[in-house]
Amino acid sequence: MSARDYVEKDYYAALGVPKDASASDIKKAYRKLARDLHPDTNPGGEERFKEVSEAYDVLSDTAKRKEYDEARSLFGSGYRPGGYAGGGAPGFDLGDLFSRAGGQAAGGLGDVFGGLFGGGRSAGRAPRRGADVEADVTLSFADAVRGATVPLRLTTTGPCATCGGSGAAPGTSPHACATCSGAGVTSRSQGGFAFSEPCKACRGSGRTVDTPCPGCAGEGRAVQGKTLNVRIPPGVSEGSKVRLSGRGGAGERGGSAGDLMVTVHVSPHRLFARKGDHLTLAVPVTFPEAALGAQISVPTLDGSVTLKVPAGTSSGRTFRVKGRGVPGKGDLLVTVEVAVPARLSKEAEQALAAFSAAAPENPRAHLAEEVS
Ligand SMILES: [Zn+2]
Ligand SMILES: [Zn+2]
Repeated sequence: MSARDYVEKDYYAALGVPKDASASDIKKAYRKLARDLHPDTNPGGEERFKEVSEAYDVLSDTAKRKEYDEARSLFGSGYRPGGYAGGGAPGFDLGDLFSRAGGQAAGGLGDVFGGLFGGGRSAGRAPRRGADVEADVTLSFADAVRGATVPLRLTTTGPCATCGGSGAAPGTSPHACATCSGAGVTSRSQGGFAFSEPCKACRGSGRTVDTPCPGCAGEGRAVQGKTLNVRIPPGVSEGSKVRLSGRGGAGERGGSAGDLMVTVHVSPHRLFARKGDHLTLAVPVTFPEAALGAQISVPTLDGSVTLKVPAGTSSGRTFRVKGRGVPGKGDLLVTVEVAVPARLSKEAEQALAAFSAAAPENPRAHLAEEVS
């Protein structure tokens, strides 16, 4: 959420409540809307659900609601960058407002006023999206073709399990920082302007804990190992990337979770290879099978099938076995290769000599014609 959001968005309208609505009215309105609009039951309503959640995130927090109301009354709904650069509003600390509401300054009011009010602000309170997490997984050839659910052991930073993210030891709770009164920033005046900087006492969080949580040393976040069952779709190949949205690092202060980006590796198979969604397989046949035709048994990933090799098949010809590649998408492409025996029995040799005499055609005759 940026300062621009504060100025441009009407959170009261989003929740359908008046500007002086009580906290409990706001909660009631939100609960009803959240129930009606939840993406699980109302697939088209995601944008509106987000809008409502964002509005509630601000209006349900007394401090944020105050900031929001101040920003709205200061700038109205029509924000004009030039209007305030001259002198600032007397008695109001713009830098303070922006540093807390600003989050990412890019594109927001922070850009306009950043230079004027000292910049370098890291938002103490704006929701922050969780980190994207990368992971690698190695699948067997067959699992890559069929798709698989694989357990993925991840270490991520998330809310500390011991303190629930507050940073305070169990049984105690954090309280507002005494130095900055919970604002997360301290201000000083110079030359008619108010400069603000993150509070040093609480490092900008606005809160202090007396007894830090032993699980996270008061940070509120901890490195956690967790096992996710990740569904890899059918047909992935070596190097494929699968993005699982919302399965990455936890967000902070109500921000959404990051994504999990899984890079897939595939172990080679001793028989099969891949060509897109098709599987490929080389199958040796004898010369008599290729010349006379034969029914041969060929393996697939799911048992064997019988392939009819027609009479007069040349070496290298490819046959398609429908539906035996990536499920729903690919076939098995069987390429027959005429195998030449390295050794012949006496009888086989005599039989071939007889064949040769009976079929004296020269398969290279056309080559001589081309050259002459
Ligand atoms: Zn903790
Ligand atoms: Zn402080």
